[in-house]
Amino acid sequence: MNNEKQSILIVEDEPQISRFLELELKHENYDTTVCADGRAALDAALARDFDLIVLDVMLPGLNGIEVLRRLRQEKQTPVIILTARDQVVDKVTGLDIGADDYMTKPFAIEELLARIRKHIKRAALGDAGVIVCGKLSLNSDARVASYDGHAVDLTKKEFDLLEYLLKNRNIVVGREKLLDAVWGFDFYGSTNVVDVYVRYLRSKIDDVYGITLIETVRGAGYVIR
Ligand code: CA
Repeated sequence: MNNEKQSILIVEDEPQISRFLELELKHENYDTTVCADGRAALDAALARDFDLIVLDVMLPGLNGIEVLRRLRQEKQTPVIILTARDQVVDKVTGLDIGADDYMTKPFAIEELLARIRKHIKRAALGDAGVIVCGKLSLNSDARVASYDGHAVDLTKKEFDLLEYLLKNRNIVVGREKLLDAVWGFDFYGSTNVVDVYVRYLRSKIDDVYGITLIETVRGAGYVIR
């Protein structure tokens, strides 16, 4: 371990929340910098290599989405965005333009601290946790999918199936294999369930956007190319 403290930029214009975050993060031995304005935050984030940025979306100056968009043109600093409960669009936009994670306010501090640790560790290992395939983007941590910036609302099994096929891109995966991987070895049922879920995914993605994402290979299984 090196002794240098990890640095976190807190971008939040609500004084109560930023003070709370600052105290909690200092208590966890992070070196913290606070910005209450989007433009100042962008300048700070570009001027210095923070280990992570906690970024509120609704900000004076530049909003958080714009800060993130401009930051990503230059840097891959891990970013966790903070959104209000009703800002679903911001959450998806944020993940689509390269946020590593999001939390909805009000959040549990322990959960935020856990995610901060995870993303700092992951950044050190060079693993982004986001799968991109054309206009489709899947964030495995946040478990959010989007197509061309629009949220794709998936159930857990739909997400797992899509994620597995994307991780095995260009490989034709048989129904039994998909059943084992997504439903588990102890699943008691027919492989027809795979076909049913592929249909669900097609109705939510292919039919909506006029594409062929998951190909059927007759007698063999499914593949995403
Ligand atoms: Ca705010």
